[in-house]
Amino acid sequence: MAKKIKQIAIYGKGGIGKSTTTSNISAALSKLGYKVMQFGCDPKSDSTNTLRGGEYIPTVLDTLREKSSVKANDLIFQGFNGIYCVEAGGPAPGVGCAGRGIITAVELLKQQKIFEKLDIDIVIYDVLGDVVCGGFAVPIREGIAEHVFTVSSADFMAIYAANNLFKGIQKYSNSGGALLGGIIANSINQPYAKSIVDDFAQRTSTQIVQYVPRSVTVTQSELQGKTTIEAAPDSEQAAVYTALAKKIAEHEKSTTPAPLDVAELREWAKSWADQLLALETGAVTSVGQSI
Ligand code: ADP
Ligand code: MG
Repeated sequence: MAKKIKQIAIYGKGGIGKSTTTSNISAALSKLGYKVMQFGCDPKSDSTNTLRGGEYIPTVLDTLREKSSVKANDLIFQGFNGIYCVEAGGPAPGVGCAGRGIITAVELLKQQKIFEKLDIDIVIYDVLGDVVCGGFAVPIREGIAEHVFTVSSADFMAIYAANNLFKGIQKYSNSGGALLGGIIANSINQPYAKSIVDDFAQRTSTQIVQYVPRSVTVTQSELQGKTTIEAAPDSEQAAVYTALAKKIAEHEKSTTPAPLDVAELREWAKSWADQLLALETGAVTSVGQSI
């Protein structure tokens, strides 16, 4: 019997740390002995850079535009520790559907039975999370990924994007869509930031999978074109990414989140903003849960 391939999608607002986190998860998983493919689904096409010494790889859409017949070898590039790297790519800005690259790329790999041929254990899709069009919902909607994780900081725009993602997951949850594994809380250095993401997770019926601090080690590694797992394997930050990777590898049961409606989300954010202001002005010395 063919082994079951674990397929995971990581969503989140642009610039929040999806590619950094995903690449470190891939790198950590590969060191734990898993065969991993990282599939970049952001038109920025820089998901796999730190697995490849900072180098950009040709995207699936670009290659399809240039060649009449495309083989898997033209699309898949090996990076750190043998990790398979793919970038779906995107249309020229302002033209066409950004989700098309994802659909086309996934179809092509499926037709050529690439996951089976390469004996992949885990595929991680790194997807732009400002879910503004149906294309980006493809990994959720089509049941391509089974588990979705979102990277969010305690910033309102990141939480807003996560809440939108939850709406997308909820919408397809009864028709075979992917379910939510939880939130990867990134750049959490302050106690109040932890309280905010904890409160959001609780209100939307999900969980925090891992708190990831903001760390200069990540910046230093990135400047060398490397993941922290590769550049600073003995650092505290690498230990955090390894712990996260283990949780994701062992994760079995995802659930349907309970997103807030727009008015609730605004009210929630406002009550936190009031508390943070009180903290700043010295009116209070700690903050708890919002209303
Ligand atoms: P996304 O893929 O969500 O657009 P990136 O992973 O490219 O975002 O991250 C954006 C920037 O933030 C990068 O320069 C990255 O190094 C930095 N970054 C992300 N997470 C951390 C962290 N935990 N500590 C320090 N820098 C981080
Ligand atoms: Mg990215």
